[in-house]
Amino acid sequence: MRLYNTLNKEIEDFIPNEEGKVKMYTCGPTVYHYAHIGNLRSYIFEDILEKGLEYLGYDVTRVMNITDVGHLTSDGDSGEDKMAKGAKREGKTVYEIADFYTKAFFKDMDNLNIRRPKIIEKASDHIDTYIKMIEKLLDEDYAYISNGNVYFDISKAKDYYKLSGKNPDDLMIGVRETVEEDKSKRNPYDFVLWFTVSKFENQDMKWDSPWGIGYPGWHIECSGISYEKLGEYLDIHCGGVDNIFPHHTNEIAQSEAFLGHKWCNYWCHGAHLNDETGKMSKSKGEFLTVDLLIEKGYSPLDYRFFCLNSHYRNSLVFSYNSLDIAKNTLEKLRNKVLSLTKDGDVDDEKFNYYRECFKDAFSKDINTSMMLTVVYDVLKDSELTDVTKYKIIEDFDKVLSLDLTIETKKDVASDLEKEILEKIEERKLAKKNKDFKLADEIRDELLAKGIKLIDTREGTTYEVV
Ligand code: AMP
Ligand code: ZN
Repeated sequence: MRLYNTLNKEIEDFIPNEEGKVKMYTCGPTVYHYAHIGNLRSYIFEDILEKGLEYLGYDVTRVMNITDVGHLTSDGDSGEDKMAKGAKREGKTVYEIADFYTKAFFKDMDNLNIRRPKIIEKASDHIDTYIKMIEKLLDEDYAYISNGNVYFDISKAKDYYKLSGKNPDDLMIGVRETVEEDKSKRNPYDFVLWFTVSKFENQDMKWDSPWGIGYPGWHIECSGISYEKLGEYLDIHCGGVDNIFPHHTNEIAQSEAFLGHKWCNYWCHGAHLNDETGKMSKSKGEFLTVDLLIEKGYSPLDYRFFCLNSHYRNSLVFSYNSLDIAKNTLEKLRNKVLSLTKDGDVDDEKFNYYRECFKDAFSKDINTSMMLTVVYDVLKDSELTDVTKYKIIEDFDKVLSLDLTIETKKDVASDLEKEILEKIEERKLAKKNKDFKLADEIRDELLAKGIKLIDTREGTTYEVV
């Protein structure tokens, strides 16, 4: 497997710390609004990476956070709190906003056949870990307290600019022009680990800490959750290119200062999806969501297919014209696969040969368009029986996840499924708020409909009784 590593700016052989096992961390959404299809392009690339690694035989443990606190509108610790902004916009509490948009995000993931990572953690559930880390950073002089907030001192970090390759002088110009100067910082790019003094008096989410009541900065969340769930060494960390600076740069600085050694070996970043006017955003023009695409008559998988046709490191321009082409091509491809007869024997030798071709395409820095070419090569191969073709493509679809062998296109979960998932989330929130009466009522209500909830360490599942 070869992967482009942002850290070293080249394509490298992928060698995990522990043979056969991959520890992977992917930054999750800030749940103050719907995800736009640009955000979801990043999650599609991460999904392919996870499933592709499994296809190669690795045992992958993937963790993702849900940012429900601490992310300000400017990545440089200034501006309004994104969650508070969302709550104000909709006249709801931050908890309600987080809950609503987390569910919406999961629905988008399901619609796009993006498998939910094994471990998904809310940032607000790990406050003790951040406090423990910040205490050590303060003890070892990597951090300082100024005007009540705790800051990380970037001048103490080893090679702070190694991931971004940015020149500190260039950044200084940027600071003067765009970032509101925080006079409490020693260096303009020092970042907040813990906010106690802030201009957001109505902050709903706050916790007691050795430095006063407050809340964590955005960056410490990913370092903390990764440390807690994956330990001291990480193989792959992913996100969109906008995460390289400052978010991932700051994650590296604080994690390595805390751990006292190198933390993550491979940093993989997906290029952006832009609209025809430039960068995609949630505030300008038409807000492109998966639901909007569904409303306009597309299947979410048309969009997944559209993404897979280009390389994750190339920026991609979205247009309905290009999506129409993707939709038609996918439909033709699926019809071809579905018209194959399924009787007879599978040619194992050919099956294995094409599996290797597919692995090879994936191993070339996740070359998804080449992976799709292998699908066409299989269909064109006149020496293959129909059933062999069908079985090979069914196998590839474990990674591509385009429902190539599924008769009815899966657009959305059934209404009942949706209702159950919503109730499970509601019950989880009730328990978190110590409203056990409500939690029991939800459980009994579902049981009366023949749905039995089963609580496991990984979360709640259900069975029909
Ligand atoms: P956010 O919810 O803003 O924290 O972003 C969620 C993910 O989407 C992050 O990994 C971002 O890097 C990524 N992202 C943001 N904008 C885009 C875009 N236009 N295209 C692709 N990925 C994006
Ligand atoms: Zn992150």
